Amino acid sequence: MDYLCRQKTFQQTLGAERLNGFVVTHPANLRYLCGYTGSNGLLLFLRERRVFFTDGRYTEQARDEVGGARVVIARGPLLEAAGTLVGAVKAAIGFEGDHTTVATAADMRKLVGKKISWKPTSGLIMGQRMIKDAEEMKIIREAVSMGAAVYEHALRSIRAGVRESEVAGELEFAARRAGADGMAFDTIVAAGKRSALPHGRASSQPIPRRGFVVVDSGVVLHGYCSDMTRTVHVGRASREERRWYDAVLEAQLAGIAAVKPGTTAGAVDHAARQVLRRHKLDRFFTHSTGHGVGLEIHEPPRLGKTQEETLQPGMVITIEPGVYLPDKGGIRIEDMVLVTKTGCQVLTPVSKVLMEI
Ligand code: ZN
Ligand code: ZN
Repeated sequence: MDYLCRQKTFQQTLGAERLNGFVVTHPANLRYLCGYTGSNGLLLFLRERRVFFTDGRYTEQARDEVGGARVVIARGPLLEAAGTLVGAVKAAIGFEGDHTTVATAADMRKLVGKKISWKPTSGLIMGQRMIKDAEEMKIIREAVSMGAAVYEHALRSIRAGVRESEVAGELEFAARRAGADGMAFDTIVAAGKRSALPHGRASSQPIPRRGFVVVDSGVVLHGYCSDMTRTVHVGRASREERRWYDAVLEAQLAGIAAVKPGTTAGAVDHAARQVLRRHKLDRFFTHSTGHGVGLEIHEPPRLGKTQEETLQPGMVITIEPGVYLPDKGGIRIEDMVLVTKTGCQVLTPVSKVLMEI
């Protein structure tokens, strides 16, 4: 990864924001900007310099991983070490307002004697992270194809009487065997009536003799998340169930068709939602249409009703409408999609034809 290049780009943002420096501590931002994957770490931007602070436990790891910045092993709190370096010259230092606790903010103010004026900021690094570079896309594509392969493996274990947790276990074991860092979130396997729970984590309940099974899963590979959902049916789907499934698929395809640069996130949500409205199912679609994915499973942009964010080439988002009919069952279909210069490209390589098992 070209961390130096990412840091230089971020320094331009700091210039535009009239900041003399910036303190980064959020793990995903640290990983993005300098490669560090440990826990206690602080990256200080100070004018043209970049210094990474950690404690003695991470000496080796920091030297191995951190790129583009000098590594300093601090004896005490990292913030104090950074404050000392900023020194007595007046400086406006930005920090991650979205990721800073009240306690840390108080510690910052306590750095008396330093002429730092702390400036809370929001989304400065995320603005850069939202647009994936070529190296990131290579890993994301690998993560997505691994996520698809482990889903297709787990599919073979779905049948009546098998516990949801067993299906999740098969999927997660396959991911580990394939070399995943771990799972992007608790695997969702929700069968029968439980499929009407949008976030039905795999339980010990056996899969009923007939009904929908929603499987929503994602792997983490080299730090990057995949995210996909498919819904299958155990036994023959009724006419009504098929109608619901077809409506969700139609909505998902309409959402994908709306993805192109310049469109707002809200317009994509609207495209999917209005299909469900036409099928009189929109009141059962109780979440937003999608979200950005990358180093974190839920990143901006959020594709909700009121989101004004404009889509740009290089964004990676999910399109995942669903309907959840209480006591009957639910359906969700989710792909990862790359926004391209001319439209979009669906990354998830798995069929969306309704499968009856
Ligand atoms: Zn998902
Ligand atoms: Zn998702």
